[in-house]
Amino acid sequence: MAKVESVFENTPLDSSQEKADAQSLMQGQIEYLYKNKTLGIWSNILLAGVLIVFFWLHFPAKKVSLLIWFGLVVTLSLVRYLMGKSFKPKRQYTQQELTSWANRHVFFTTLLSTIWGLTGIVFFPNDLAHLGLLIFILFSVLLSAIPTLAASRIAYYFQIIVTLVPTTLLLFLSKDMGHDLFALSVIVMAGTLVLVSGYIYSLLFELQNAQIALQALADTDQLTGIANRRHFDRKFKVEWRRAMREQTPISLLLIDVDHFKKYNDTYGHQAGDRCLQQIAKALESVSHRPADLASRYGGEEFAVLLPVTSQENAAMLAERLRKKIESLKIEHSKSEFGIVTISVGVSCCKPVWDFTGNTPDEEQKVTFPAMLLTASDNALYVSKEQGRNQISEQGCGDQKMSKVLQKQKEENIPIA
Ligand code: GH3
Ligand code: MG
Ligand code: MG
Repeated sequence: MAKVESVFENTPLDSSQEKADAQSLMQGQIEYLYKNKTLGIWSNILLAGVLIVFFWLHFPAKKVSLLIWFGLVVTLSLVRYLMGKSFKPKRQYTQQELTSWANRHVFFTTLLSTIWGLTGIVFFPNDLAHLGLLIFILFSVLLSAIPTLAASRIAYYFQIIVTLVPTTLLLFLSKDMGHDLFALSVIVMAGTLVLVSGYIYSLLFELQNAQIALQALADTDQLTGIANRRHFDRKFKVEWRRAMREQTPISLLLIDVDHFKKYNDTYGHQAGDRCLQQIAKALESVSHRPADLASRYGGEEFAVLLPVTSQENAAMLAERLRKKIESLKIEHSKSEFGIVTISVGVSCCKPVWDFTGNTPDEEQKVTFPAMLLTASDNALYVSKEQGRNQISEQGCGDQKMSKVLQKQKEENIPIA
């Protein structure tokens, strides 16, 4: 498994599964970042408040500048807070959107740090007591910005530089022994902060890697190495919501190995396992768009979720898959085909949530995820009933064909 350096620092990941894991963790990180937005707002306003109280009498000529400076800190803190409020934790963002959320946070935090850094230049105190207070507050601001590490380590180091360098330079330039000592202590403290934040960062990502590994394990079918039912269910919910939001079609292939019980009985359970592994591999090779998800649905059944895919394309893919399994030519003497084959059910839904009844097609007013599953399952049933080793399609919510066949079966009418 590839180690993730940082979810935001674009480290190449091995498989689409790991990319998906990294993305959900990235979402978690950003949620964490924005959940702690009140820490950012209060620490900044409180610290700026403390500074203005003490500097008010110290800089009688700079009261207007102090007020403007205070206004800037408050405004920027509020803007960052409000931006954080518009982040919706329940919504599944794309990798690109998440990066942009992270960048926005880093941008505002860096802007705030720059204003804090400039404080040392505009309001450079003459006495050591006020100087000490200023340095103490600058470090407090940096400590309260530590959550930025979750987004980017480089961004946090940059904040240390912009916050402390202006004041430190002025301290050195003033050629005062006391100031030099202050400058030295700032450097020592800044060095400690860099070391500690580096440690926190690596701890954070060691935990993150462990979490990715655990999640990958929990989401993988141990026999075939592809996604398991748990993973499928979660992804199905996410993709359904996305399809609803973006009004895109979503397709599903349900695959069942033909006469697999007989295969096990003839060649043994271990050969059966190997056969399932080969089929899973073929599934993954056919569905290769990043959003596609091939999973083991249970036993000898597989499901391939195809977001943003029309029924026509899904059927094409299903047929390609059926042919691919045929081309493996896995011997199966008890099957009428002489080899292992699969039956596939194809269905496609375009999720609709219009409850107003204004949709042109009355039938299409509301669509539920279960309708896609049922339609694919019915189509699979049709494939089986019509002789196996084939694909069948069924429209979302359209259960007529399977009902006809079921009725024929119940009434013992031979299928033509
Ligand atoms: P059909 O063509 O109608 O699908 O018939 P079938 O025999 O494939 O279907 P049935 O549901 O009767 O049997 C499924 C078989 O799949 C039974 C079970 O032993 C086998 N199976 C399920 N999971 C595994 C597994 O993990 N390994 C192996 N080797 N066999 C499995
Ligand atoms: Mg089955
Ligand atoms: Mg079967």
